[in-house]
Amino acid sequence: MAELEIYAVYAVKYATREARRGEHFYLGDPHDGPMPMDYFVWAAVSPEHTVVVDAGFTAAVAARRQRTYLRAPMDGLGLIGIGASHVRHVILTHLHYDHVGNLDGFPAATFHVQEAELAFWTGRHAGRGVFRALVEPGDVLFLVRENFARRVHFIRDTAEIVPGITVHRVGGHAAGLQVVRVPTARGMVVLASDATHFYANIEEDRPFSLVQNVPEMYDAFDTVRALADSPAHIIPGHDPLVMERYPAAGPGLEGIAVRIA
Ligand SMILES: [Zn+2]
Repeated sequence: MAELEIYAVYAVKYATREARRGEHFYLGDPHDGPMPMDYFVWAAVSPEHTVVVDAGFTAAVAARRQRTYLRAPMDGLGLIGIGASHVRHVILTHLHYDHVGNLDGFPAATFHVQEAELAFWTGRHAGRGVFRALVEPGDVLFLVRENFARRVHFIRDTAEIVPGITVHRVGGHAAGLQVVRVPTARGMVVLASDATHFYANIEEDRPFSLVQNVPEMYDAFDTVRALADSPAHIIPGHDPLVMERYPAAGPGLEGIAVRIA
């Protein structure tokens, strides 16, 4: 029997912003106070395969949306030895602006996306009020165009991307959000992306403020818990605590990249 392929997993922080607790919980938080938000891309690496999860936003978008930009995600990946121009697999957890802004930085990649997510952003609600603010139209257009070059892999619910790494659609935050399950030396890690922005969302069973469907958000928490080997195997999408709970990915990378497993 073939041995299970296992992966090293990294989180690379590329931007941050000041924020308050009340912004991060559905219907707010009675104990308001500072609660900053970090922005990450992730990578899973084995001797055979490199998979990047999400692509972050650009410096121009950071300036327009008043985020503090640290470095381009491709440069952050370069600091842990990943050459973005050679990466063959980029999983897109969903198409919100902070996850898919640098797709042209991965010219060799196939983009793995939930069919429901791209359908939503080419559908009749995309331009409406609260939804319109969540994407950069150019990012959606990029994927539509690259689909004609056969660079988009559409997923319905669940798929295996490379041996052992699977994606799973969860509802609640976006039409087609997917989480990523990775076999590692310490067990099954789940890159939850915006299924839980912070540890507090899933640990306290309190959905993030930006919700399409509240019951599905709770179901997403349950799915993430079931996929991970333990609560300590769940990696939230935007929590600065990720940078504290895990060691730097290498010398000089404190505050830039951590090794999760
Ligand atoms: Zn996000």
